[in-house]
Amino acid sequence: MAAKPPLTILLAGPRGFCAGVDRAIEIVERALQVYGAPVYVRHEIVHNRFVVESLEAKGAVFVKELDEAPVDKPVVFSAHGVPKSVPAEAERRRMIYLDATCPLVSKVHHEAARHHKEGFHVLLIGHEGHPEVIGTMGQLPEGAITLVETVADAQTLDVPAGKPLAFVTQTTLSLDDTAEIVAALRARFPEIEAPRKEDICYATTNRQQAVKALAGECDALLVVGAPNSSNSKRLVEVAEKAGCPRAFLVQRGADIDWDALGPLRTLGLTAGASAPEVLVEEVIAAFREHYEVTLEARDLTQEDVHFKLPRVLLDAAEAGE
Ligand code: SF4
Repeated sequence: MAAKPPLTILLAGPRGFCAGVDRAIEIVERALQVYGAPVYVRHEIVHNRFVVESLEAKGAVFVKELDEAPVDKPVVFSAHGVPKSVPAEAERRRMIYLDATCPLVSKVHHEAARHHKEGFHVLLIGHEGHPEVIGTMGQLPEGAITLVETVADAQTLDVPAGKPLAFVTQTTLSLDDTAEIVAALRARFPEIEAPRKEDICYATTNRQQAVKALAGECDALLVVGAPNSSNSKRLVEVAEKAGCPRAFLVQRGADIDWDALGPLRTLGLTAGASAPEVLVEEVIAAFREHYEVTLEARDLTQEDVHFKLPRVLLDAAEAGE
């Protein structure tokens, strides 16, 4: 048998699960322990089929809308956040609900609400149709938030006359693209209020910077993540912009398009914030079948962020001890 060609895989760090995703998955798992199966989950808890299927196997039932869940079973809201109407509806139906909205998304919700209360018209920089954007827009009455997706939007959008402006952003955007949109907004509206602290979260920031740091050395780069995962898609764009000739999103090992990768000596590998490490390992194993692989960890920063679970689950755990 011919010897396999050598391949160095540069493993970007940090990669994969963030504290918000860890917390959301743990909320569903603990809810299953506390209340027993089934526990209903509105929308994919995080954007990853593997995670969703693993939780389904433990007794979680995923639904699109609240009215698909029976009133006598607990329901969990996904990490992306929900419009205010959703918990209101759960309360009206007297359901037990657990909110797995990432605290960093909740922070943006609070900012938008504060701006609105103080009389500002709010601009939200984000991608139309993403659940986080739907959730953030749903914190305020209809018409109180305008979505800004591009620099062109920033240059042309209509804003209500005589109202001061403030902006907030989706947490999983490209740092560089957002900076360009913010610059366009500031050029047009110099008085616009900015977030006190960056809305793009630490996990998105760290994963993009780790990719940027190694993209120029790679013949190609793979991002393990789902096609509907915003932060994963941004990692592909970041790699391309940072000089990597070919970057692709793959859900798992079986998805690798070997022809598209082209001739390889060095591959960059990372994972979006909702992709489990087991899928990264699966991708590495697939490469080992074709190449003599040398792994090289490139850890740019260490993360030690943890978010607390909802009080009701902590209380239940204490009571059960
Ligand atoms: Fe929270 Fe950021 Fe993770 Fe989204 S990507 S769940 S905002 S930590």
